[in-house]
Amino acid sequence: TPYRLKRHGKIWTIPGAGNMSVRQLIIASQNEGKIAEIKELLAPLGITVASSDDLHLPDVEETGKTFRENAILKARAIATYTDIPSLADDSGLCVDALNGRPGVYTARYGGYEKLLGEMKNIAPEERTARFECILALCIPNGPTNVFEGVSEGHISTQAKGEGGFGFDPVFIPNGDTRTYAEMSRDEKNQTSHRAKALAKLMDFLKNGPGDAA
Ligand code: IMP
Repeated sequence: TPYRLKRHGKIWTIPGAGNMSVRQLIIASQNEGKIAEIKELLAPLGITVASSDDLHLPDVEETGKTFRENAILKARAIATYTDIPSLADDSGLCVDALNGRPGVYTARYGGYEKLLGEMKNIAPEERTARFECILALCIPNGPTNVFEGVSEGHISTQAKGEGGFGFDPVFIPNGDTRTYAEMSRDEKNQTSHRAKALAKLMDFLKNGPGDAA
């Protein structure tokens, strides 16, 4: 169903953007690495992005058991609090040799040194892992839409590179020999979980909800 966003009586639209228009978004996150990547990817759409930190919004507790639950609860909390469309990213690293850990607990797990230590006896071919990202876009008093992206790869035996954030120095995406931390942001965006989820979100913003609504 087509819908338009209203705030204080003003309807937000982007000319030519179809029936669904967003000009302003809040990213329900305090993670600077994520925020920088999302801002950069949404800038070409003319969408202004403010983060929870920019607006001094409260942090939302992640009580869900899945990336999806956490993304939805963060986006809803901030959209309800601000009355502005809000986007939340819940993401993490799932390592096969660790039965999918740290998964939804990635932010609380500790650093990549701990991961390298925990995996020190794991053979190269058994070091497969994936980054997952769920983005939830919540419209105040409206629907919440969810977009998913996955980046398959493996955990290196040594940390390398200065770029990126979090576990980037130990994650090598499939099809490459470098870690994400050794790449420029543009290069990381070619394969990253977050860029893939954002591509789906951008398609939704440009073309409307389609069948997904
Ligand atoms: P949360 O989504 O705020 O719970 O935190 C996700 C955690 O996963 C981050 O704090 C990072 O440690 C890790 N993570 C998510 N995406 C990336 C990425 O693109 N690179 C490196 N680490 C990531």
